[in-house]
Amino acid sequence: MQPDSKAVHAGEGGLLETPSPLSPPIYQSSVFVFDDLARAGGVTAGQEPGYSYARIGHPNADMFSAAVAALEGAGAGATAASGTGAILAALLAARGEGSLAIAREIYGGSVALARNFLAPLGVTCAFFDSHDPQAIPEGAGAVLVETCSNPLGRLTDVAALAQEAHRRGARLVVDNTFATPYLVQPLSFGADLVVHSATKFLAGHGDVILGAVAGGEALVAAAQASLTTFGATPDPFAAWLGLRGLRTFGVRMERAVQNAAAIAKHLEGHRGVRAVHHASLDSHPQRDIAERYFGGRGPAILAFDLEDEAAAAEFVSRLRFIRYAPSLGDVATIVLHPATTSHRQLSAEEQSGLGITPGTVRLSVGIEAADDLLEELDHALAG
Ligand SMILES: *Cc1c(COP(=O)(O)O)cnc(C)c1O
Repeated sequence: MQPDSKAVHAGEGGLLETPSPLSPPIYQSSVFVFDDLARAGGVTAGQEPGYSYARIGHPNADMFSAAVAALEGAGAGATAASGTGAILAALLAARGEGSLAIAREIYGGSVALARNFLAPLGVTCAFFDSHDPQAIPEGAGAVLVETCSNPLGRLTDVAALAQEAHRRGARLVVDNTFATPYLVQPLSFGADLVVHSATKFLAGHGDVILGAVAGGEALVAAAQASLTTFGATPDPFAAWLGLRGLRTFGVRMERAVQNAAAIAKHLEGHRGVRAVHHASLDSHPQRDIAERYFGGRGPAILAFDLEDEAAAAEFVSRLRFIRYAPSLGDVATIVLHPATTSHRQLSAEEQSGLGITPGTVRLSVGIEAADDLLEELDHALAG
């Protein structure tokens, strides 16, 4: 099956009823009942398939896990209550007894997880330049990178990092939230685990917080054990919303990726726009990586630089249907100013080291008609 078809059908085997409903029920129950002691014992011991207590597992989570695993080309998947929970579980599963090596250019919540949570518990966390695989620190048990950075869309050579990580006895965990399996399946380039904030493109409708882990069976089982133990497993309705959103993943991504490329092309050379950052453009410094990993396409997120913060504020204030929201991956196009929101905790020097200027604006591109988006942007830039 093609990925678009997998998104529509994967996980259908997880229903409890026969005959089964076409749309899965929400198994909104905290616990499942048993007919006898033997079965209760067998399921509790994990010797028989079945469900007991919903923090440990339920059909809605399993259906979503199966669907994400299918899309990522993975042997197994696990669903988490959030992307952050998924990242924590994946890192704990992957690191063994080793330390953590984390890309310097990474989601702010992942930095907080390492610095404010794992480091105080005694897990050594080092940040490294993920564009230099040789920079992976010695002693690393797990390496965490993103396929595509926020907000400037710098790309990661996953195969080179996987090779170097494995040579050092470390496992590679890839956060594929921005690129999504529509553009790339990191496991096929040697990654050991893929993680998602399914809150974003996988669920796609800005209505649920959800995460996912995908990879080989043993590592995913270890990640699932962590999720269950620290209580970061999903509510049935959240998992249901995730699968409901995922069913349209293929058509949503196709439109959003095309829209983002059209906007990037339109804004390049536009009056008042100093630079456009998007992998679909010939001006992108890593076109070779975009060709190799993304089939030459770019993600559904782009950034561009306006003159200064005042110009960014003016641009945002003139937008009519594109609204300001600190997230991404929604069916609606949304805008964000990284310097005062997602990257606010960084100093001006750290921001400029990442290429973020006070005038940088990020768009998470939705599935509106391209002409409407271009007209909206022209209007906002004409201020
Ligand atoms: C949003 C996001 C996360 C965190 O996901 P939550 O679902 O909010 O916990 C992690 N990584 C990336 C790249 C994200 O964009």
